[in-house]
Amino acid sequence: MVKILDGRVVQAGIKKKLIATCSGLVRKPHLVIIQVGKRPESTLYIERKKKFGEQIGVKITHAHYPQAISEVKLISEIINFNNDGAVHGIIVQIPLPKQLNTTRILNTISAVKDVDGLSAVNLQRAWQNDQGGFRPATACGVLILLEHYKIPLRGRTVVIIGRSALVGKHLALACLNAGATVTICHRETKNLSAITKQSDILIVSAGSPGLITKKYVRAGQVVVDVGINVLPGQKLLEEVGKRKIVGDVAYDEVASIVRAISPVPGGVGPLTIACLFENLVEAYKFHSR
Ligand code: NAD
Repeated sequence: MVKILDGRVVQAGIKKKLIATCSGLVRKPHLVIIQVGKRPESTLYIERKKKFGEQIGVKITHAHYPQAISEVKLISEIINFNNDGAVHGIIVQIPLPKQLNTTRILNTISAVKDVDGLSAVNLQRAWQNDQGGFRPATACGVLILLEHYKIPLRGRTVVIIGRSALVGKHLALACLNAGATVTICHRETKNLSAITKQSDILIVSAGSPGLITKKYVRAGQVVVDVGINVLPGQKLLEEVGKRKIVGDVAYDEVASIVRAISPVPGGVGPLTIACLFENLVEAYKFHSR
């Protein structure tokens, strides 16, 4: 029988601990979420983060800017938040409009407020396996999910599909640091199914619905689906909760073969949010020293 790696259950446990921690703090940790434009997916993710934040008792400021904001203006806004002692964490909801250089924007966030762990300083720390930085929330969510279900990474082979600077590469580094032997696949990879089948753990972050079918997996594997895809023609905000969001894995056919699988929704996503707020509480403690 396949084991379902249920991220909601794990998130509930983390939420309980965060509520207890936050209730004992002198002030509320304060997160600023920066959104540019009105992309519905971004709005949905931000709503989820706000809801979780409210439930655990932190303060959230949703700083919303027009689609056409200039890079100079956005950078100056971030610098203001960096200099504001009442702000403990800052995240920028990605993707950003084309006129904005994402790397430059992310690197403007002060490393000690970069609770998404995506700035160069935190990336360098991850590269050097220095535990001092903030762990990128998605990679952290995958690791917590595996840890909770007692699936070790040390000594295991891991195949990651996706090499983006924001998801795939962070995942690869996190698994490598945890002692796995890691292979990264992407659009140019030849014979993908031959590679994916060899792994103990397959982590998929391609943003391609239904990419992983039964021909890519074998019995005994663990499959973690990081993808979040809204099927075309559906109204995201209205349809969420009715399972109109899908991952990168053809869930039913893959689940009938492998040992364990994470669903979408309800797998990695809830833990990405939980990790973000764990980082925020750490940032608060750092600023309160
Ligand atoms: P991206 O488009 O920047 O990168 C996708 C990567 O997948 C690329 O490296 C590409 O080469 C590879 N890829 C795409 N199609 C492929 C194919 N057919 N075969 C092999 N490789 C393929 O996307 P991203 O920002 O890295 O996000 C990936 C997915 O993860 C998206 O669905 C996104 O919504 C999701 N995501 C989920 C969470 C979460 O919390 N669960 C967080 C962030 C992103």
